[in-house]
Amino acid sequence: GEGIRLQKVLAQAGVASRRAAEEMIDQGRVEVDGLIVREQGMRIDPATAIVRVDGTRVVVQEELVHVALNKPRGWQSTMADDLGRPCVGDIVAERIAAGQRLFHVGRLDADTEGLLLLTNDGDLAHRLMHPSFEVSKTYMATVQGIVARGVNRQLKDGVELEDGPAKVDQFTIVDVGDGITLVRVVLHEGRKHIVRRLLEAVGHPVIRLVRTDIGPVALGDQRPGTLRVLGRDEVGKLY
Ligand code: URA
Repeated sequence: GEGIRLQKVLAQAGVASRRAAEEMIDQGRVEVDGLIVREQGMRIDPATAIVRVDGTRVVVQEELVHVALNKPRGWQSTMADDLGRPCVGDIVAERIAAGQRLFHVGRLDADTEGLLLLTNDGDLAHRLMHPSFEVSKTYMATVQGIVARGVNRQLKDGVELEDGPAKVDQFTIVDVGDGITLVRVVLHEGRKHIVRRLLEAVGHPVIRLVRTDIGPVALGDQRPGTLRVLGRDEVGKLY
């Protein structure tokens, strides 16, 4: 049929996950064009429908926007910062029309650089962050010390961290310097400081950390502090 299912529209607008949106519909909290909707699966035209949850108008995004941003070191990955520190919202504000609400897909530590995805599809942001969605993330880490080859096995078998075990999918030694090693790490995990904690746990504290890939999206040679609107093909692969 025509249109987009109501629970999907609500999820895309960032109201709640699809499942929670279905519950809101069940509970009679959702109105379309002035009428409460209780059956699931109703299709609406997001460009024209007036949707309310608990009486509050939901801003329905007509066009989905997906952005790859190269977060510079020292910047917050949030859209706004209460303490006035530089944040990715500042970079976005210059390029993306005002009022467009973008969600960041997960976070990078302030000290971490590299690829951060932003989207106005709250549903997608939610799914990409969920561990069961299993999108792989690639990081280049400069670590202290010369990494022995056995570390590969250790990280793949799993390392016990204070909040439970964690492991990597791939681990490659890329370059060895003067008391430092450049490594590539691929994992599905999203726990806070996970790469730094894993590498510290095997005796190699991180000096510099750059995220280069999230699933099908690569940072490539995009410069720090810049953003790039994703192409149709890349977007298709994210869904
Ligand atoms: N792992 C980290 O330790 N830091 C990040 O910012 C991302 C993954």
